[in-house]
Amino acid sequence: MDLLHTQLAALQQQLSFVATDAIDWKFYVQACSWGVTLFESYLLLRQYPLYSKTEPPAVLAAHFDKEVFRKSQLYGKDKAQFSLITGLLKQAIDSAMLQYGFYAWAWDVGGKIIGRFGYGSEYEITQSLAFTAVLFLISSLPGIPLSAYQTFVLEEKHGFNKTTPSLFVTDMLKGWVLAFAIGGPFLSAFLYVTKWAGDRFVPWLMALLFSFQIIMVIIFPTIIQPLFNKLSPLPVGDLRSRTEALAAKLKFPLKYLYEIDGSKRSSHSNAYFFGLPWSKHIVIFDTLIKESKPEEVEAVLAHELGHWYHMHPTKLLCISQAHIFTILALFPAFLHAPQFLRAFDFSKTVSARPPTIVAFLLFQMILTPMEAVVGIALNFVSRQFEWEADRFACELQDRLNASEMKDMGDRLGRALITLHVKNLSTVWVDWLYSAYHHSHPTLTERLKALETFQAKRDGNGKKEL
Ligand SMILES: [Zn+2]
Repeated sequence: MDLLHTQLAALQQQLSFVATDAIDWKFYVQACSWGVTLFESYLLLRQYPLYSKTEPPAVLAAHFDKEVFRKSQLYGKDKAQFSLITGLLKQAIDSAMLQYGFYAWAWDVGGKIIGRFGYGSEYEITQSLAFTAVLFLISSLPGIPLSAYQTFVLEEKHGFNKTTPSLFVTDMLKGWVLAFAIGGPFLSAFLYVTKWAGDRFVPWLMALLFSFQIIMVIIFPTIIQPLFNKLSPLPVGDLRSRTEALAAKLKFPLKYLYEIDGSKRSSHSNAYFFGLPWSKHIVIFDTLIKESKPEEVEAVLAHELGHWYHMHPTKLLCISQAHIFTILALFPAFLHAPQFLRAFDFSKTVSARPPTIVAFLLFQMILTPMEAVVGIALNFVSRQFEWEADRFACELQDRLNASEMKDMGDRLGRALITLHVKNLSTVWVDWLYSAYHHSHPTLTERLKALETFQAKRDGNGKKEL
């Protein structure tokens, strides 16, 4: 522990310029956030002409009829236009808020609110909660019409929307209540630990954040998800027995097997698993069950279990811990720097003893370029995991010595094609756009890889014979 703190102190030494040098942090944040937004717009402009292609890629030609392909291109085009406009609009709003001292204003408003209840500025955690609530509510406002447009105009036009206006409103209100119910105590604990541990908060906050992640894993399926969706046990039948048999053969600790009414909101479909190491839930969208045959859904689950077998969620958790550690390790230099807050229009009084939440929020903005790079790296890792899970599904026949699974690659391919066709997913993708945005390889890439895995496996099989 002491070695850790010595290293962290050395890092702070390197960053001591934050407290001493007069740096125009506001300009830096503006430049970085506009840089990222303009880069994202550039990516959309690279991707956009691909929506005008009239034929699908050769591998997919047999699976898309002309009309479906035309629809998927139109859907892609509409979504790209929407992303371009919303991306620029959101950035313009954020930029204006930053430029005109919105954060300093929100801190003062938070102070006034708690003042009405008789609390002064010495109650930093209370003021931080009020500040966050003000910030959250005001910055959510521009997103509401955009999200309504996306649901009721864009998705509706392409036949995906199943959300009613009342469901939209209740979802939003539930989301807010949850954000306050979970966010409030979490934020209080975060600020309390930071104050309590003083300069040695890094390992303590790591422990807090880790516990929070574990608590979320437990309460998400049991408390949160049922607020939004109905989960019902998967009915007895072909799919259920296939899933249970597959889980048993792989020694996957399947505790609950659910069908989720994803179709309540949208016709997009999927399947996933989660839970603690000894107790897992598998959830399959009703839309997936409706659109694919049981043996194809089984292949999708084989892919999902590939993620589990190769411990992808655990690996991602470790990566996220390293990411959190880096952020926390850099943070103290910004926490103890009044000049840093002054650059964002905070008054001399507030800046003299920087509130942790304010410093942390502004510090997050400083990290924008780093976060963009981390995002690209994470997508890269995630795409590798997807290949690995696809490969796992193809090779199940050998792993389980089960010849009935020899066509798992084909079945997975068919399920992926159905998912893509039904979701009208984009099939022509610019490589740079994909590298930046996509956590999954494109359908064309996956089908090609499935063929290669299968061919390699058949080749090996022959050699053994
Ligand atoms: Zn996957």
